[in-house]
Amino acid sequence: MDTIMLNLILFGPPGSGKGTQAERLEEAYNLVHISTGVLFRSEMDEGTELGIRANEYMSRGELVPDEVTIGMLKNKMLSHADAEGFIFDGFPRTAPQAEALDQLLEDMGQQIDALIMLDVPEDEIVKRIVLRGKDSNRPDDSDPEIVRKRFQVYQSKTAPIYDYYNEKGIAFKINGIGSIDEIFQNLCDTIDSLHV
Ligand code: AMP
Repeated sequence: MDTIMLNLILFGPPGSGKGTQAERLEEAYNLVHISTGVLFRSEMDEGTELGIRANEYMSRGELVPDEVTIGMLKNKMLSHADAEGFIFDGFPRTAPQAEALDQLLEDMGQQIDALIMLDVPEDEIVKRIVLRGKDSNRPDDSDPEIVRKRFQVYQSKTAPIYDYYNEKGIAFKINGIGSIDEIFQNLCDTIDSLHV
């Protein structure tokens, strides 16, 4: 019997709430949550070569080069060969990453079913991240200069990824302002309306 797979991209600027919502979706839909930011931070904590290399970019608010990011993502996906689907959080962030992801899934006989964007304006983002930086141990959250740089990188390199999936008819936008429960409900409604 064929298992029905569900592969989602949770999209939006840094600080839009992707991580929080992805954790809830992971549980609700039995998906494997892959956050490239979390993977990089754990490589950094372990002091691996990959972590040290990634940190050079992360500490400046820049993107880690595509070949490093794509290689790490591929390994992570291959280590979950029995997954019922994935929720990608913080990936893809560039056009080559989107193309590589499509190819990887195609090789596995799968595809992206939807990209859902959490829509949050810039002013709100900078406020939220700097607040988050007070409690988290993320140096890239505590410095407003770096936060702004990350937002610029998002606008120039990552935002166009929405159009890439929109052209395929699988991009959705929901309001990223509201309570965690409200936003989660809107996400579930969007996912449940997909004809997967
Ligand atoms: P995040 O936790 O998603 O906000 O990511 C934190 C930082 O990790 C980013 O500012 C980038 O430096 C790096 N990073 C995470 N995901 C990617 C990605 N898909 N491509 C390139 N760099 C990434």
